[in-house]
Amino acid sequence: MSKNKKVKHVLGLSGGKDSAALAIYMAREYPEIDIDYFFTDTGYELPEVYNFIERLESLLGKEVLRLNHNVRLINSDEPVFKRLLKEHNNFLPSGRQRWCTIRMKLEPFERWIKPFLDDGYEVISYVGIRADEPWRDGYVPNESQKNLTIKMPFAEDGIKKSGVFSILDSAGIGLPKYYEWRSRSGCTFCFFQRKIEWVRLMERYPKAFEEAKAFEKQAESSENGETFYWMGPNEPLTTLEDPARIAQIKENHEKALQRFEKKKLRERKRKLGMHAMVDEEKLIDTLSMDEIYDDIEGGGACITCYK
Ligand code: SF4
Repeated sequence: MSKNKKVKHVLGLSGGKDSAALAIYMAREYPEIDIDYFFTDTGYELPEVYNFIERLESLLGKEVLRLNHNVRLINSDEPVFKRLLKEHNNFLPSGRQRWCTIRMKLEPFERWIKPFLDDGYEVISYVGIRADEPWRDGYVPNESQKNLTIKMPFAEDGIKKSGVFSILDSAGIGLPKYYEWRSRSGCTFCFFQRKIEWVRLMERYPKAFEEAKAFEKQAESSENGETFYWMGPNEPLTTLEDPARIAQIKENHEKALQRFEKKKLRERKRKLGMHAMVDEEKLIDTLSMDEIYDDIEGGGACITCYK
């Protein structure tokens, strides 16, 4: 890199623990780097996420740029997701067809950095992949983004999950409050959530749940709309109107949790130690959601949304 090259450092906050810890870590360990923090607001985030971003802002003493914070106001008569769903032939996004991440998270990011790249900047984007995770793409730059570099300081500096907890603890911010009931940030209707999390969404945020149901209804006009839903094939959210189904989901989750606790709790306590603010035992349900269901962390979800 030439000495006079213009460089822009950026770090995306998803509302999740790893990106938050990374922002704190960078501010502490690399104070000489002037980083622009950003949050790509889909307009369908949890209230706890907004709250956590605001607390981070105070902690960092720096504004976190909202890349599309008024996304719902573009056309107030038509919620943005309703419009996007139409543009995608009313096919709900899924693990295989994750158009939502592209449209609501990646495109705003690309639009934001494009003028800098066009202006000859090298853009360095820091992502919170940890040293104890399998390597995953933070964001794969395309042909026109040759000057975009992805860096993973946690992976490079050997910071693991316990290190992330320590950073959040020592900064006095702890974990985002949604960990009391849900395992990751992202849209209220995210299809990566477990059935138990849908039940909890319904109980905590009935309006957001009804909105998700309305999108399913809209998706019924797509070619496969009658069989594919947020929770998977043949199980629309309306099935949660049946108290017996809710009881069954809760019971199944409780059993899975008990199995996991038996197997892992002692080992985890020994490994991670207990933290002042991050009470591993109390939050084992959400902090370990993927492990409870034998999945890798994130359950395959895009790091842009939950990291
Ligand atoms: S959080 Fe889920 S629904 Fe939202 S953009 Fe990401 S993958 Fe899609």
